[in-house]
Amino acid sequence: MRIVLVGPPGAGKGTQAAYLAENLSIPHISTGDLFRANISQGTELGQKAQEYMRSGQLVPDEVTIGMAKDRMEQPDAEVGFLLDGFPRNLAQAEALDAILKDAGLKLDAVLDLEVPEDEVVKRIAGRRMCRNDSSHIFHVEYTPSKVEGVCDLCGGELYQREDDSEETVRKRLAVYHSETEPIIDYYRAQSLVTTISALGQVSEVTTRAMAALGSGE
Ligand code: ADP
Repeated sequence: MRIVLVGPPGAGKGTQAAYLAENLSIPHISTGDLFRANISQGTELGQKAQEYMRSGQLVPDEVTIGMAKDRMEQPDAEVGFLLDGFPRNLAQAEALDAILKDAGLKLDAVLDLEVPEDEVVKRIAGRRMCRNDSSHIFHVEYTPSKVEGVCDLCGGELYQREDDSEETVRKRLAVYHSETEPIIDYYRAQSLVTTISALGQVSEVTTRAMAALGSGE
């Protein structure tokens, strides 16, 4: 299956993507994670991305599209993939269509995670990520780790993302509304979109998502 996950920052895309990718046996491709890996490795691409991410803006398409294409062309993505954070504007959606078309492939579904804006701000303010594995995500209030600052799953150090400050979150939300939301209509025109509520327990959202993808657990 080839799936695109959309939703505002804080909707739980990363958390859900990890479960969904495992359930569906397809790789989880997150452009945000790819950028963060490049930043921590100090690559040229990471240096280009860092300033944009820090201020909550989109990294330019010429950097992002090539990186996403390279990742989708890796052998493990032959069986399909779950895209998280890409495409994030109309130009990227059109580029993705062209990449898939050239390969004789198409998208199967676009899953839109819906969540009210005040909830998004609360989720992000308390979010803590594991340095070892970006799919290990906690929240100081909703899903706290047993020991503060330590990942329950692997013992890694938990940290707050640099772009998770309230000011940057508001900027990211504004960018989401102006740049990313239009891709939902673009995909609606192709009858690919299913919208689900991202409120409730993580496992409830996963069950809803699997049902929406026609693969109920
Ligand atoms: P979230 O969905 O919580 O905002 P991500 O980890 O997906 O977090 O993205 C973090 C940042 O990485 C974005 O604010 C943006 O700067 C950059 N980024 C990620 N994916 C893209 C993309 N497809 N195009 C441009 N910038 C991106």
